[in-house]
Amino acid sequence: MKVTRIQIIQRGLSNRCPNCGEHTLFKKGTFFETNSECPNCGLKIERDEGFFLGSLSLNYGVTLVCFLTPVMLLAYFKIIGVTLAIVLAGVGAIGFPALFYRSSRSWWLMNYYLFLPHHLPANQRPVAEDEDENT
Ligand SMILES: [Zn+2]
Repeated sequence: MKVTRIQIIQRGLSNRCPNCGEHTLFKKGTFFETNSECPNCGLKIERDEGFFLGSLSLNYGVTLVCFLTPVMLLAYFKIIGVTLAIVLAGVGAIGFPALFYRSSRSWWLMNYYLFLPHHLPANQRPVAEDEDENT
């Protein structure tokens, strides 16, 4: 296996292609547009229609756990005022998911290949000539 699970995690956390490790998940000059396939190695990034719907759920969950819940707890324990908490929650509910957008897509792709690393083209063994003749 050429690409290990550790490499898949490293590449996923740094928003890189899980197959070749290049920064090719997103179109150059854009923040939100994902390449349908890697321009470097040809890996199909958007595997199916709606493949990245899971990344939206991931983004929502991370926003809730890492941003909105701490703000609510700070307000609950009266460390910050309710008005400030409402403003922070409103701004954070829009801003945090936008900033986390790229990572959520990369993490979702990482999650897929972490469980199915043999689906990566770099990990597929080449077809031997005698096998090819039998099929
Ligand atoms: Zn690639």
